[in-house]
Amino acid sequence: MIKKDVIIIGAGASGLMCAIESGKRGRSVLVLDHASKIGKKISISGGGRCNFTNINTSHTNYISNNPHFCKSALSRFKPRYIITMLEKHGIKYEEREEGQLFCAGSSQEILLMLEKECNDAGVKIMLDCRVNEVKKINRADHADLNGQVEPIEPEDHFIISTDQEIFECESLVIATGGLAYPQIGASGLGYEIAKKFDLNVTATRPALVPFIFSKEDMKIFGELSGISINASIRCRTMSFRGSVLFTHRGLSGPAILQISSYWKEGDVIVIDLLPDTDIFRFFVEKQQNKSKTEMHNLLCEFLPTRLSKNWCDLNIQSKPVNQYNEKELRKIALQVHTWEIRPRTTEDYRTAEVTLGGIDTKELSSKTMEAIKVKGLYFTGEVVDVTGQLGGYNLHWAWASGFVAGQYV
Ligand SMILES: Cc1cc2nc3c(=O)[nH]c(=O)nc-3n(C[C@H](O)[C@H](O)[C@H](O)COP(=O)(O)OP(=O)(O)OC[C@H]3O[C@@H](n4cnc5c(N)ncnc54)[C@H](O)[C@@H]3O)c2cc1C
Repeated sequence: MIKKDVIIIGAGASGLMCAIESGKRGRSVLVLDHASKIGKKISISGGGRCNFTNINTSHTNYISNNPHFCKSALSRFKPRYIITMLEKHGIKYEEREEGQLFCAGSSQEILLMLEKECNDAGVKIMLDCRVNEVKKINRADHADLNGQVEPIEPEDHFIISTDQEIFECESLVIATGGLAYPQIGASGLGYEIAKKFDLNVTATRPALVPFIFSKEDMKIFGELSGISINASIRCRTMSFRGSVLFTHRGLSGPAILQISSYWKEGDVIVIDLLPDTDIFRFFVEKQQNKSKTEMHNLLCEFLPTRLSKNWCDLNIQSKPVNQYNEKELRKIALQVHTWEIRPRTTEDYRTAEVTLGGIDTKELSSKTMEAIKVKGLYFTGEVVDVTGQLGGYNLHWAWASGFVAGQYV
């Protein structure tokens, strides 16, 4: 049996940040992971450049049953902290739109930085390690004082049985991430451990994920694969502006990924194909100039030709613009600005960037990330019911929650 102060399951962003912080406090720390390498998600994140934080991070960038839960960790772990760490290691980064910070080189540099920080903090990492069982024991040790057997403070310990060793620790951190991208090692272990300790887990579903068209839309738009437009997307009370990419199965691109986190099965998404243009006015001007241009050719001035043609085939009867009356033109303009699509489903966890839902925040202290009912048991990162929008917010939450837990474990 190997004894450690702290064992962390999951060598991702959150687990490693927690390990570094607790190691710096002089705790003996071991990180276990079933993968063959640390931080596989970090390495593929941001298209290999890792959008590691966002300088505008606030609690409004997160989805959770309790939108206030993340405030405490975010207030103690500001983007500056991770930026300083990168600067200390000479890693160059760049700001892209809306405060997103990416590595200028490669996300591998961040992995090397984390490895070095772990090393400096005396953290041990064991990879290719399969966790078989986690249980809590109460060691009511006894001390012999003046011939009397007196109980000393009973201590709770965790026993972690793996395919390599059996470990014992005082503090156990579950940083196993969510279910997205199972092909690189995502698993439901964190949820299973929570349930074993009688902690509630809120319903999980894929988020930041492409949509799949209905059968009907697929016939018309499936052939537009590769086309990209700048649009505004609305669903329920949320809207996002950005790139929308037609794929061979449906829709993707940043604006679509963003809205997917708010979309529920059966919902319609409303697309404004020309958010910067008053298209009705444009039609009227064309009529005033006695234009005889066909509607789908007119729309080609703003939209890719194939999209314009297919969209017109589906939604309107295309004819020369001078042949429409005002009411018809108003209707077409409205359709352009509020094109409704009802996706059949999403591409699921296979291509989702994150998991919505997870360990119920009611079960955790927002200050320490410790389970209220189970002393010594902590949950950090994506496994918790806190999900960021696209833009570096998920890694920021992973760092922040790992960091605060690292001060207490
Ligand atoms: C393709 C892609 C691109 C992304 N890009 C960005 C981006 O640019 N910016 C951003 O902010 N977010 C991005 N994300 C999301 C971000 O990567 C995650 O939210 C973040 O890594 C979560 O960190 P974590 O430490 O909580 O979990 P993870 O990084 O998932 O780490 C969990 C660790 O636990 C291990 N583990 C899981 N199950 C077990 C088990 N049973 N036994 C032992 N170990 C286990 C895993 O192997 C893994 O190492 C992206 C996600 C994907 C999939």
